Amino acid sequence: MAKQQDFAEKAKKGMAEKGSKCPKCGTVKVPMLYVQSTRSAHASYRFNRQLVQVCKCNEKEIYG
Ligand SMILES: [Zn+2]
Repeated sequence: MAKQQDFAEKAKKGMAEKGSKCPKCGTVKVPMLYVQSTRSAHASYRFNRQLVQVCKCNEKEIYG
C-alpha cells in the first residue's frame, strides 16, 4: 500500500511540473505565443510577440 501511495505522489508531482494550474478555473495553463500587430503612424506594422499562459480565464481573449 505504501508503495502505491508513493507512486501517486510522484504522479501528482509530475503533473504539477508540466504546467501550473490556474487557481480560478482549475485549468492547466498552456504557454502560447501571442502575436499582436499594431499599426504605426508611418503605415508600417509592428509585431509584438508575447508568450502568454492560457487558461479558461483568458482563452477567449487570446483566441478571439
Ligand atoms: Zn484561469
